[in-house]
Amino acid sequence: MDFSTRAIHAGQPADPGTGATITPIFQTSTYTQQGLGENKGYEYSRTGNPTRAALETCLASLENATHGLAFASGMAAISAVMSVLRPGDHVIAGDDLYGGTYRIFERVMRPMGVRISYVTAREVDEYARAVTPKTRMIWAETPTNPLLSLVDIAALGELARARGLTLVVDNTFATPYLQTPLDLGAHIVVHSTTKYINGHSDVVGGAVLTSDDALYDAIKFYQNAAGGVPGAFDAWLTLRGVKTLAARMRQHEENAGRIASFLEGHALVRHVYYPGLSSHPDHALAKRQMRGFGGMVSFAFDGEREDVDTFVRGLRIFALAESLGGVESLCCHPASMTHGSIPREEREKRGITDTLVRLSVGIEGVDDLIADLSQALDTVTSSRHGRSNGGRAKATARAATKSRR
Ligand SMILES: *Cc1c(COP(=O)(O)O)cnc(C)c1O
Repeated sequence: MDFSTRAIHAGQPADPGTGATITPIFQTSTYTQQGLGENKGYEYSRTGNPTRAALETCLASLENATHGLAFASGMAAISAVMSVLRPGDHVIAGDDLYGGTYRIFERVMRPMGVRISYVTAREVDEYARAVTPKTRMIWAETPTNPLLSLVDIAALGELARARGLTLVVDNTFATPYLQTPLDLGAHIVVHSTTKYINGHSDVVGGAVLTSDDALYDAIKFYQNAAGGVPGAFDAWLTLRGVKTLAARMRQHEENAGRIASFLEGHALVRHVYYPGLSSHPDHALAKRQMRGFGGMVSFAFDGEREDVDTFVRGLRIFALAESLGGVESLCCHPASMTHGSIPREEREKRGITDTLVRLSVGIEGVDDLIADLSQALDTVTSSRHGRSNGGRAKATARAATKSRR
């Protein structure tokens, strides 16, 4: 069945008890049992809940997985995947990771005896060279955040298969509408459903999808044991959000493409990072691996950090905020916001400079979005004139004071 059809119907038959067309919010912690050892498939809502089960089935279907597990956040999903690691295990991860993933690797997994090596995210050879007899897992994100580099999932899948490793792909940025990593050789997909999957910036959630029975059993065990599950209402909101994922992604992409071209032609912009541009180093891979280029656009100013501050203060529709993937447009300054915890030198080495701006392009009217960016860029130009005039005025005043002395 088509992606959109599955997004709207998978795991969501009419409620057998009432005929309710929309999966009800089963706001219950417990379930009445018929007799000893006899129940209707549910006993306690940490272990299982029908609203959550509908979401898990739907997301599994969208990622072409046999199993889905929903979590209270993307990080809860990620930590559940990491729970399959044991002291002494080695993980190879791309270096352009989501900050929270890096944090849990460094501050939680490493003290527990797991070793992690970071390699240049887009260089498949570096992953291959980093494999040791203790390597158990490869962790990849593609496109990466905030520079939108791509990782060749099929090549990593091949490496994982040859060396008996588990390949995990964080598919939050691409979404299953644009990319299905399990089809390319990945074993596990993780999501922050907070982003595009829910799509309305009103729920924090996560998911793990896999077709590997043993991995599913281990992660499902951890889900129940640790209990980082979403409540029924959050599961229901996410289920409602995901119904429109295909329509939203098409509009995100159309708007992002128009905005990337606009920015590429602007005098104040030094560089635009968008996999849909033919100038992007991974454009060919994006065309091969993805079914579209997504809604995230980053760009670097030809100027200073001060210009970025003027620009973000000038925006009227784009909100200065962390997160991404909602219907509304957001703008983020990675160096001071999402990536502020990475030491400056390390950050700049990776290209996350003080003048880099990341846009999560929403689905508002694209002409309004371009007009907003354009007028905010104009405020940068006029404030630069103001600065240089002000600077000259101050210098003249200083000279005058000096000559009076
Ligand atoms: C936001 C995000 C996460 C973490 O998800 P939360 O829902 O915030 O816990 C993980 N990976 C990526 C790529 C993200 O963007």
